[in-house]
Amino acid sequence: MSRLTDEHKEIRRAVREFVEREVDPIADELDNAEKEIPMPVIRKMAELGYFGLIFPTEYGGMGLDTLSMAIVTEELSRGWLSVGSVMTRMIITGSLIQANGTEEQKRRFLPRISSGELLTAAAFTEPDVGSDTAAMKLRATKSADGKNYELFGEKTWCTFANRAHVLTVLARTNPEVSPKHKGLSILLVEKEPGDDFHSPSLTGGPIPTIGYKGMKSYALGFDGYPCPKENLLGGAEGRGFYQLMATYEYARIQTAARAVGVAQAALDAAIKYARERTQFGKPIAEHQIIRHKIAHIATDLEAARQLCYYAATCKDEGRRCDLEAGYAKAFGAEMAERVTTEALQVFGGYGYSREYPAQRFWRDARVFRIFEGTSEIQYEVIAKRLLDEGR
Ligand SMILES: Cc1cc2nc3c(=O)[nH]c(=O)nc-3n(C[C@H](O)[C@H](O)[C@H](O)COP(=O)(O)OP(=O)(O)OC[C@H]3O[C@@H](n4cnc5c(N)ncnc54)[C@H](O)[C@@H]3O)c2cc1C
Repeated sequence: MSRLTDEHKEIRRAVREFVEREVDPIADELDNAEKEIPMPVIRKMAELGYFGLIFPTEYGGMGLDTLSMAIVTEELSRGWLSVGSVMTRMIITGSLIQANGTEEQKRRFLPRISSGELLTAAAFTEPDVGSDTAAMKLRATKSADGKNYELFGEKTWCTFANRAHVLTVLARTNPEVSPKHKGLSILLVEKEPGDDFHSPSLTGGPIPTIGYKGMKSYALGFDGYPCPKENLLGGAEGRGFYQLMATYEYARIQTAARAVGVAQAALDAAIKYARERTQFGKPIAEHQIIRHKIAHIATDLEAARQLCYYAATCKDEGRRCDLEAGYAKAFGAEMAERVTTEALQVFGGYGYSREYPAQRFWRDARVFRIFEGTSEIQYEVIAKRLLDEGR
């Protein structure tokens, strides 16, 4: 079992208090109404430092460890997956800048990302290219005066794009080079928040989804949208693929923590309901199959939590942990799907009703096997390490 320090326990307690006060009272209503997370909740998260948790204090962050990030994410996601997922965007962009940015980029962006002044979104996936990151097509060409890049092409599934001030865009700056992944760069593309985007050079439309309702994911069209050349991450072209791959450890640990949070919410709800619901003259919690269902859910969940914390601990020890993060993400994603469907089953017909949150946990959990690298890709990464590279 991972041993949490008193500081980790205090962090968990404080986040839980925030969620009980600010998130629990609104999550079901907003999810049912398909409404986004209210901006005041996002502002409070920023004030509490959640967006800069792991960034160094000299750049405005809190300088906390990866395990703290996992705990905060887990507790926020326990309230509502969408709330736990807001900070994912700032973690992805911020850790890309921290690891790869020029000193000027770190000073310009990190403090404002940490404080919530700049909200960010990740624009990697394209309509024709998802898992095969190296094949991304969106073009970034230099403007005639050489001051800007101009972006042409499409991105899709860019979650939170409407509310973001910065889109972290994976773009092709060199279409000639082989292998093709060496032609990719990351651009920090600035924009005004808003549902209108900047038509006609930047357009966006929300994609209807079955869950994850507190944030909208967008299909984006770029037609000459400018990005100053100073916003090329690291100041040199052709490094985007490597930069992105290196941050996947954080993103996958964070996604594993999100899965643990949603599954914990499902378990909590199932225990409460099993104690309250009576059939055949006694609470269903006294029927052995329900008792064991709860026990199985809890066991599955705890295994996922420990894998997640272990990967976070490896990261904090400065070790390469793509394998451990891959285990945590792949297992956590599938655990959340199993656990939420079993928790829904405890509710019987009411599990299928919008009156209870069991269906929200189940709908939200389904996305874990898809984003931040599908399960199939996760297993390929794991297999590659074990079979091709040795450990
Ligand atoms: C709700 C939601 C939010 C998202 N948010 C973002 C975001 O903010 N930013 C962003 O950039 N993206 C985002 N995504 C996109 C997500 O990362 C992609 O959907 C994911 O990477 C898979 O890409 P794809 O959908 O194109 O599927 P594809 O890559 O087309 O895959 C289709 C199927 O084939 C399988 N497959 C593909 N290649 C292989 C292979 N080599 N071996 C075996 N199986 C394979 C996949 O596992 C999958 O089952 C989001 C997606 C969702 C659903």
